[in-house]
Amino acid sequence: MTPQQTSPFPKGVEIIPVGGTGEVGRNMTAVRVDDEVFLFDMGLHMPNYIKYTEEDISDLSKLSTEALRKAGAIPDDNVIKHLRKNVKAIFLGHGHLDHIGAVPFVAQHYNAPIIGSPYTIQVLKTILKDEKIQLKNRLETLSPNSTRKITKNVTVEFVHITHSIPQSVLVALHTKYGIILYATDFKFDNNPILGKPPHYEGLKKLGDKGILVSMIDCLYVTKPGKMPSEAVAREMLRDAMLGVDNSKHALVVTTFSSHIARLKSITEFGRQTKRKILFMGRSLAKYSQAAEDIDLIHFTKHGVDIMKYGNQVKRKFREITKRGKEKFLLVVTGHQGEPKSMLAKMINRKFDFRFDSDDHVIFSSSVIPVEPNMSYRKAIEQQLQREGVRFYTDIHCSGHAAREDIREFLKLTRPRHAIPTHAEPNKVDSFVQLWNEMGLPPKNAHVLKPGQKLKLV
Ligand SMILES: [Zn+2]
Repeated sequence: MTPQQTSPFPKGVEIIPVGGTGEVGRNMTAVRVDDEVFLFDMGLHMPNYIKYTEEDISDLSKLSTEALRKAGAIPDDNVIKHLRKNVKAIFLGHGHLDHIGAVPFVAQHYNAPIIGSPYTIQVLKTILKDEKIQLKNRLETLSPNSTRKITKNVTVEFVHITHSIPQSVLVALHTKYGIILYATDFKFDNNPILGKPPHYEGLKKLGDKGILVSMIDCLYVTKPGKMPSEAVAREMLRDAMLGVDNSKHALVVTTFSSHIARLKSITEFGRQTKRKILFMGRSLAKYSQAAEDIDLIHFTKHGVDIMKYGNQVKRKFREITKRGKEKFLLVVTGHQGEPKSMLAKMINRKFDFRFDSDDHVIFSSSVIPVEPNMSYRKAIEQQLQREGVRFYTDIHCSGHAAREDIREFLKLTRPRHAIPTHAEPNKVDSFVQLWNEMGLPPKNAHVLKPGQKLKLV
């Protein structure tokens, strides 16, 4: 018998979201094309992960896979157990932990290479090294706007897109049944500060060739209009850092550790204040070091000191207090109020550092509106208020597409079928509404739960 005849799988394309549909986090999708299987992302569910570990939002500690699975912190890949031996490759769209953070726990189930853009792979390597985890999977890089033949029948293409971390890509799988597009996460940012605008032409070409199905980032589908550019966030930051008199006081900025474009703006304005710039916190060190390692940007060459370890940080705070905190710009972890973050420790006087009235703290982030984030952040803000600290919140623009961006995306790519993802049920419904509003066939918008299979051809 030929291998085809012995294959236990029917011919065609089947999509199985393992996690990340009808919820925000633990992104992972399996795509079966005949008897070959491809995996997209392996992410953490951040709120469940933080609830479980109380860790700094971007830190990863050694935990058992089973315990994390039970806590809902990683995708439950038992739903694709029957496909394990057929997995040919694992693709990572970008380096956020809700897309790659479960790799150390889940990738070992598959005898397949992990393929991501150079920055994504560098971030993954840094995490693995820090946690002293060795993966048997081969790590391969593929540059944005490149293709690679994965098997005789399937080629992958990485399409450059803008998001809130460098070298994000939309992953297109070219198959004889049409293109399968994995479009999460993204925004359409025409002034991205770091890197180029989205590769619209590449997306249009995919549409011309024929997209069978697209998974689509729907986190902000209910937000009308277009998501403001990173250039807007930069101007808000400029105003908060340079538009008020903070010259005699502490200036502390906290943001997403992986938001390298934002860190670029922070350090550029920081240099204008003539303060010594310090990055403090493990996750900040991790992501900025990964960016330096692949020559994406150089913070240290431009006078930034990156501090990773506790004793290093402790010593530095003694120096700051001695020399005068007005001489420093402290870029720290803790924008969500995470109890073990640098900002929380500073407030709780774990270091030789005191906040005084009229010190400045800038939150270059928005609070992720889930528990425990909201209570953590509220507690931090109340403490700052008690100390008389002047603080600035929401100095931020999201890295996700808003409703009109998603409409643009659909017009450009014209997928035959769509699977809304990266969103809670009310937003999924809102996407279906948009799909119908555009006159697209209602039966082709598929609302799936994790583990629910969709057979397409
Ligand atoms: Zn992301």
